[in-house]
Amino acid sequence: MILGSDPILLTPGPLTTSPATRQAMLRDWGSWDAAFNALTGTICRDLLAVVNGSGTHECVPLQGSGTFAVEAALANVVPRGGKVLVPQNGAYCQRILKILGYLGRAHVSLDLPEDRHPTGAMIDEALRADPSITHVAQVHCETGTGILNPLPEIAEACARHGKGLVVDAMSSFGAVPIDVARHPVDALVAASGKCIEGVPGMGFVIVRRAVLEGCRGNSHSLAMDLHDQWTYLQRTTQWRFTPPTHVVAAFRAALDQFLAEGGQPARGARYAANRDTLIDGMSALGFRLFLPRAVQAPVIITFHAPGDPHYAFKPFYEKVRARGYVLYPGKLTKVETFRVGCIGAIDANEMRNVVSAVAETLKDMGVSRMEPLEAAA
Ligand SMILES: *Cc1c(COP(=O)(O)O)cnc(C)c1O
Repeated sequence: MILGSDPILLTPGPLTTSPATRQAMLRDWGSWDAAFNALTGTICRDLLAVVNGSGTHECVPLQGSGTFAVEAALANVVPRGGKVLVPQNGAYCQRILKILGYLGRAHVSLDLPEDRHPTGAMIDEALRADPSITHVAQVHCETGTGILNPLPEIAEACARHGKGLVVDAMSSFGAVPIDVARHPVDALVAASGKCIEGVPGMGFVIVRRAVLEGCRGNSHSLAMDLHDQWTYLQRTTQWRFTPPTHVVAAFRAALDQFLAEGGQPARGARYAANRDTLIDGMSALGFRLFLPRAVQAPVIITFHAPGDPHYAFKPFYEKVRARGYVLYPGKLTKVETFRVGCIGAIDANEMRNVVSAVAETLKDMGVSRMEPLEAAA
């Protein structure tokens, strides 16, 4: 699956894409071209179907990286007088809090350790304690560690209390089952360059139609105004402002391959096999997982750094990179870790190969004490 000497990206976006997806970018498109605008339309239709939102929800694409779409979802769905509860167990939850600060939306966080997920009961209690909360914003797979936060339980708690729910499903969309008909969600955000295996450059927000219709005027920003983007798209079939044409074409090709593979169940199964192969191989080398296996999403795995004095992330990274694999630094503040992604156009064979590359690298560096150091106080 590799071209020339390009390394395999074991990072959670950008990730390794297939030759067919890269090939789809070899053509220029005009933004007025009916064929290009049809691509946008079919992409939105297919994305809605992935989460069972056809008929109830609308898909609004947006230029930019995933964070742009998260910010747009919060700016549009949460009215200026709203207040947002954020169950917080990692870096992307913290990013939501930061966005809410920029937007001037009142917010409160429910802080948890990075290896624990919120429960429906915790959300129930927080909503009961503070009736001024209007919305909950959660991260489905917290990519900072790789923990899967329970969307169904949280959605049910929100529904019981009549509160809105915004979900950052960036790294879970297409890999983990999501059903917005069974588990009500007001807005669900993801992007082209994650588990659908497109290239980065556009996000999309799947919004309940009634919510979208009511959010006119909420956005502080013209470029981020989802209501305006949606109404313009409906009227003209075109994006407002220059679309990322090559990204859209590659996304269409990636979606075709996603559907041909068997959609979310097949993609989720391939990623789960990648995760399990990686964890088994790394555990056999003596690496320790940061998360309990039961809460580990099939997306990205956090490993403790070996406690051996010969270990340092930078040379480790460089030497594994020279063997063809790009790892990812850890994102935890209290313990030294590194991360390995298991998403992208890769299979369990690739995971066995990266484990071999890691084994050779450890030998090279003279690392033998795999026991992690104690967490800094
Ligand atoms: C990748 C990701 C994002 C978006 O990050 P960008 O760098 O803006 O693409 C947001 N949330 C989660 C959980 C992610 O994994």
